[in-house]
Amino acid sequence: MEKRLIKKEALAGIAKRIAEDVTVYAPVRVEENVLFKVLEKGEEPLFTYQNSKNAPKNFFFPRSEVMLRYTRTPKGVEFTAEELFARDGVLMGARPCDARSFVLLDMLFDQEKYKDPYYIEKRNRTTVVSLACAKPPYRECFCTSVGGHPVDDKGADVLITDIGDVFLVEFVTPKGEKLLKYFGDQKADAASEEKKAAVAAAAEAALTWKIATHEVKEKLDRNFNSPFWDGIHKKCLACGTCTFLCPTCHCFDISDEMKYDDGRRLRNWDSCMFPLFTKETSGHNPRPTQKERWRQRVMHKFSYYPENFGAIACVGCGRCVQSCPVNIDIRKIVAEAMELA
Ligand code: SF4
Ligand code: SF4
Repeated sequence: MEKRLIKKEALAGIAKRIAEDVTVYAPVRVEENVLFKVLEKGEEPLFTYQNSKNAPKNFFFPRSEVMLRYTRTPKGVEFTAEELFARDGVLMGARPCDARSFVLLDMLFDQEKYKDPYYIEKRNRTTVVSLACAKPPYRECFCTSVGGHPVDDKGADVLITDIGDVFLVEFVTPKGEKLLKYFGDQKADAASEEKKAAVAAAAEAALTWKIATHEVKEKLDRNFNSPFWDGIHKKCLACGTCTFLCPTCHCFDISDEMKYDDGRRLRNWDSCMFPLFTKETSGHNPRPTQKERWRQRVMHKFSYYPENFGAIACVGCGRCVQSCPVNIDIRKIVAEAMELA
């Protein structure tokens, strides 16, 4: 694996140089938030940030996406497939939890049998440059409880770690190695490896929330009908904030919009927290109250995803905990579930 050392203050300039050649998505301050966005000419990326308000999943799975267009003609309806996203991009500065979320989304959108070309095209054409958390940014972080790590390279093509005076840059995949030319020629030495190991150990130790999840699927499956679920949802406003900010939530709805003879088919993010999410045309709703919806959210992430793909569908970013307006905390729910028989 190729490894380089760069001055910390050089990273913003490197991002801008890459942006001269391909589209760069980077964290940028927008009013009081830090958001990932396309880096415009003259715009300053922010790599000293904690984490972005939104997860960067929208670059591969947009909030609203046209799938196809159609026109009514005298001979019938003509369909035009929407041109797939066709530009190379670099996602710079994603935190390891968010980079790992792409591995989890790949399991769903890029299966052997079912392939989602809209997602796959964007994913294949984007290089992920991850910025390790030398210090876990928030007290809500719990990545190590769900299989991640603050200095994890899963989902990253390039991993950048703050090892004190400089950044250690590791080119994890061949896709990442294509960016080598932007990062100078100061090769990393054995001392920088040792510093990275010390940073990784300190970051892991600094995480304050650690929950056991080793048998969470079995516990949840056994307790599907338990009174455990009777109280969790009571404060929930069904606002959907938790699902829209979550890097791994991926539910969507498909709808058609027509104006005169022209129409388009869109897929839009949806949320299992919304009452209409499972409402059927007959009026029947198999998840009639917020209790069933909250149970679904937990079961999907901690039981069904492990069953289907062998991995928990939560990366421990803590966004849902931070932003829930009524302080519902998925970490506490899982910790309490682990106390069940
Ligand atoms: S469930 Fe919450 S903590 Fe887990 S990945 Fe989604 S937003 Fe982050
Ligand atoms: S953010 Fe909180 S209130 Fe809103 S849907 Fe999620 S759990 Fe319910």
